[in-house]
Amino acid sequence: MLSIVSRSLLSHKSLLLLYTSSSAIRGSRQFRPLRILVKRRTFAAMPPKRKATVPPNAASANNYTDSAGDRANKRSRVSKPIINYLNKEVPPEKFTAKNDENGGPAEAVAAETINADPEPAFDHSRPEERSGIVDRRYYPAEMSNERCAQYNDNEIPRPIELLNKAVEESALARTSIRDQKRGESVIHWFKRDLRIRDNTSLSKASALAKEIGKGIIGVWIMSPQDWEAHLVSPAKCDFELRSVDALRKELAELDIPLYIEVVKRRRDLPERLVGLANEWSAKNVFCNIEYEPDELRREEELVKLMSEKGINFEPQHDDCVVPPGTLKTGGGKQYAVYSPWYRNWVGYLHAHPHVLDELPIPGKNPVGFRAKYKALFDARVPDAPENKKLSDKDRERLHRLYPAGEAAALERLERFLKEKVVMYKDTRNFPSKNSTARLSVHHAAGTLAARTSVRLARDVNKTKKLDGGLQGIQSWISEVAWRDFYRHVLCHWPYVCMHKPFKFEYTNVAWEYSDPNFEAWKTGRTGYPIVDAAMRCMNTTAYMHNRLRMVTASFLAKHLLLDWRLGEQYFMLKFIDGDFSANNGGWGFASSTGVDPQPYFRVFNPWLQSEKFDEAGEFIRQWIPELRDIEGKEVHNPYAKVGTTAARTAEKNGYPKPIVDHKLARERCLARYKAGIGRDTA
Ligand SMILES: Cc1cc2nc3c(=O)[nH]c(=O)nc-3n(C[C@H](O)[C@H](O)[C@H](O)COP(=O)(O)OP(=O)(O)OC[C@H]3O[C@@H](n4cnc5c(N)ncnc54)[C@H](O)[C@@H]3O)c2cc1C
Repeated sequence: MLSIVSRSLLSHKSLLLLYTSSSAIRGSRQFRPLRILVKRRTFAAMPPKRKATVPPNAASANNYTDSAGDRANKRSRVSKPIINYLNKEVPPEKFTAKNDENGGPAEAVAAETINADPEPAFDHSRPEERSGIVDRRYYPAEMSNERCAQYNDNEIPRPIELLNKAVEESALARTSIRDQKRGESVIHWFKRDLRIRDNTSLSKASALAKEIGKGIIGVWIMSPQDWEAHLVSPAKCDFELRSVDALRKELAELDIPLYIEVVKRRRDLPERLVGLANEWSAKNVFCNIEYEPDELRREEELVKLMSEKGINFEPQHDDCVVPPGTLKTGGGKQYAVYSPWYRNWVGYLHAHPHVLDELPIPGKNPVGFRAKYKALFDARVPDAPENKKLSDKDRERLHRLYPAGEAAALERLERFLKEKVVMYKDTRNFPSKNSTARLSVHHAAGTLAARTSVRLARDVNKTKKLDGGLQGIQSWISEVAWRDFYRHVLCHWPYVCMHKPFKFEYTNVAWEYSDPNFEAWKTGRTGYPIVDAAMRCMNTTAYMHNRLRMVTASFLAKHLLLDWRLGEQYFMLKFIDGDFSANNGGWGFASSTGVDPQPYFRVFNPWLQSEKFDEAGEFIRQWIPELRDIEGKEVHNPYAKVGTTAARTAEKNGYPKPIVDHKLARERCLARYKAGIGRDTA
């Protein structure tokens, strides 16, 4: 196919709450109000505690989610789904004491604006639910800090451990099914691995099929509920659908059918897979593991369910270059800091070079298989669900920008390695240089394995050492490694996928939920050109450069003090490369709540970032037409001085003035974080 491939392939002035926590429940969200001092406004004391309920239509969600978190959560209500709030399809509810069913001081949240006091009262009445961050159709109420601590203390088994246990406990039964070499076909279930090359599970399924003299059937199931629960963007849905179509065609050339089906309710998926295996007399079903908790639990269920039904279900590690759980600190723990983890990652791959070897591509299905399963070859890729459809204009643009499928991924990788990787280290931070690989969309959809990327980059280096040779290649490989790092974190600290920050004590920072500021950030109208250019670029292209992801995320969390999870979710709803762990990791870094983060007292100065990484203002002028006529450095901050030509031009063209004062915002941020972290009410 491609040459390179074939070669190897807080004290609010109006309200002050003081709390004490009983030592028995320290670290939990169970508070004992000590004293309430009301200076100007009077609110009811803490709302009554009540047990969180799961809405009746959330049945599917609780099949897999950590609903036990509800035990420790005292208040909850069914909130508007995030998708409505973020997309403004339904205006967010106005919160008043009247409609706040907990009777709590809800209006305090809505009333706070960016210029409010630096330390408002810490509000325990679950703003994350009222603002839609927790979509209660699919998820239980936010987990308590206490439960997070239990995960940390190994008191609660992690979903990956439960999957491993199920695999171990069923090993005998499954091996015996396998050894009997029965069945008329072998199934590979495609998920986020939409490729035929270098695909662990597909390769193993193919080897087994050959051994038993049968053929493989590929299955791809569209689950609109999964897409909704995971906030998959319309751009990403469209990319996946196009990639599935490309995959279908490639498989057909090997006489492998790709069976496609839409399963309406996500909880029905395991039973449906069993049904398909029975229909096709398949005794062996393979898939690659997805590392989010719901997916791990689903795979655990499938291992057990299929075993009971006499089917061998084999989930494989494939998505990471080095499987989660492999790398441990000297003390046998999971790393929470990237640099030592990375040294270990490199060392492991040097010691086990075969991990990077390309896996065999599946062979052709046996003669007669196509005729026998003729109907399966007729499957057509479905349209995206209504709430995930792109406009014609967006579709046309995104198809042009992001050719889908494995062949396009490999072609892009080859071009990047030939033309850009050498300079990557020096150019990677400059958005207008277009110097990065733009492969995240392919890594996220699995049209390209991270393993393939690392191997092929290594193979164009002067050495087989991943941390040697050309600086650009070393640097690029270390970026691909970040993807692994955040997946390892996700597996070990699964609560990061349950609306909790890695540093769960940061839950106690009093975040803002101001609608106008969030709207200004989303639409690129904050008055900070670099932030606005980045947001407008993302809204148009469904992609944002890494440096700008850091700047815009930091701006939302630190300048606007908005709950970082609002931004995290908005990114997911927009990105074509939306990927839970990479996105969550990035937001954790930028908001200082995550693993190996930026310290909270480091607040990016957007103007300095802009001058450094978009020195000539090219990127700003490309995305903000209102500022195109401003010459020189003033484009970075046109309102820096009153009455200048730059300020007049910006104003005349309708470009907004900064919605926050940088210095004040920084001071407020430091005070708010400090108060939050110090709050002894975790
Ligand atoms: C707030 C924030 C949100 C992010 N959200 C996502 C997301 O939803 N999906 C996503 O894939 N990446 C995300 N990233 C990471 C990073 O910005 C993108 O992976 C990168 O910009 C993709 O462009 P590229 O393919 O040209 O990257 P390159 O610079 O060419 O890097 C090569 C590959 O390495 C991986 N990679 C690079 N940087 C990172 C990183 N910091 N974390 C994890 N993997 C990385 C990607 O798979 C990427 O394709 C986020 C970063 C931040 C700060």
